[in-house]
Amino acid sequence: MKHESAQCVFCAIISGEAPASVVYRDDRCMAFMNLRPLHPGEFMVIPLEHIDHFTDMPDDLAAHIMVVGQRLGRRMMQVYAPKRVGYVVHGFGVPHAHLNVVPLRDSGDIMSAKHIVHTDTGFRIAHDAVPLRSRADLDADAARLRGG
Ligand SMILES: [Zn+2]
Repeated sequence: MKHESAQCVFCAIISGEAPASVVYRDDRCMAFMNLRPLHPGEFMVIPLEHIDHFTDMPDDLAAHIMVVGQRLGRRMMQVYAPKRVGYVVHGFGVPHAHLNVVPLRDSGDIMSAKHIVHTDTGFRIAHDAVPLRSRADLDADAARLRGG
């Protein structure tokens, strides 16, 4: 392994020092079950090399992880029959890039606290709780991402 972090729990899983319920492993990545799944069947795919941000991975490695997630996601559809298979990357939990592959029963399974609308009796989840961005702002965002 090129880079390994002594404090990283995912690196400990890769080296076999920490337990994991492994789904898949090859020479570049491995997949194992999430300890706190939203629904049974949720797993993650990680590079064997310790890279913090998903966006810092070489193109071919990132693509490989996405393809492995997709292949295992097809199996997830067969076995768990969720309505959708979602792919989430955030990295707030462990600073070692990971693609969460999530069986989705409804849109609330992948949401932000910004989608919570408080009501008299509690709360509800509403995707339209997030305000629409103006077309001018969206065009400006697109231009910034294009590098224009
Ligand atoms: Zn690591």
